[in-house]
Amino acid sequence: MKICDLHTHSNNSFDAKSSVDDICRAAIERGLYAVAITDHCEAPFIRFGDDCEFGCFDRLIPQSIADTAAAREKYAGQLRVIRGLELGEPLDEPDGTARALSYGEYDFVLASVHNIRNMQDFYYMNYSGVDIDGLLALYFAELEQVAAFPHFDSLSHLTYPLRYIFKGTGKMPDLSVHSDSIDRIFKILIENNKALEINVQGLFRELKTTLPSLPLVRRYRELGGRLITIGTDAHSADMVGVGIKEGIEVAKAAGFDSYAIYEDHEPVMIEIE
Ligand SMILES: [Zn+2]
Ligand SMILES: [Zn+2]
Repeated sequence: MKICDLHTHSNNSFDAKSSVDDICRAAIERGLYAVAITDHCEAPFIRFGDDCEFGCFDRLIPQSIADTAAAREKYAGQLRVIRGLELGEPLDEPDGTARALSYGEYDFVLASVHNIRNMQDFYYMNYSGVDIDGLLALYFAELEQVAAFPHFDSLSHLTYPLRYIFKGTGKMPDLSVHSDSIDRIFKILIENNKALEINVQGLFRELKTTLPSLPLVRRYRELGGRLITIGTDAHSADMVGVGIKEGIEVAKAAGFDSYAIYEDHEPVMIEIE
């Protein structure tokens, strides 16, 4: 079976350390068929330029695109290298988003929400005394808007805040109170022909599940979802491809017989055996 990792970060992301070349070599060593380089571009922060806490996206993303183009050429015939981007908060600042999408050509864009509008990244938040249900309601409401944004291919880590809420509180929030909101997100993705990502990073951290977990992937399928992408969210070459097989198992258990990779924003289906 072809193993494809559609979510990796190179040293052109502020929080990652391996070069695009290292990522591709790791992918080849592990027998991957395809890898997407999806460096971070946080739309609302682009305008800060060199003063941005996440680095200067005007330099980082063109560099990511150049490194990915070089790797595509170097490893042609050995590895399918997909030109990707992880676009954060695309609706928070339309000018930033337009700029992010014009840096170069992409095959594949992941859309993410790492922070609710005008709030910190969930990663940095302090959860003591916080109304978790209220916070998650705001998050899913924002994600619902992002799901309707036209210029992306797959919605990344649907349950992203759970990583940090669980770590911060030791308790797993009950998502059943948000099921209507999550259903609406799934329906929008389905209507607009967008994919849902199974992000496997959670398997190796506190949560021990994919983001989203099997019951939600199953629900997406039940509602008519047919496009799934699978990504490790690797921030170093040693994690490239790690857990993709487990992600495929989740897709299979949810009823999928294929998952998608992307070429020029068109899905190419990979059979699940
Ligand atoms: Zn992310
Ligand atoms: Zn990521």
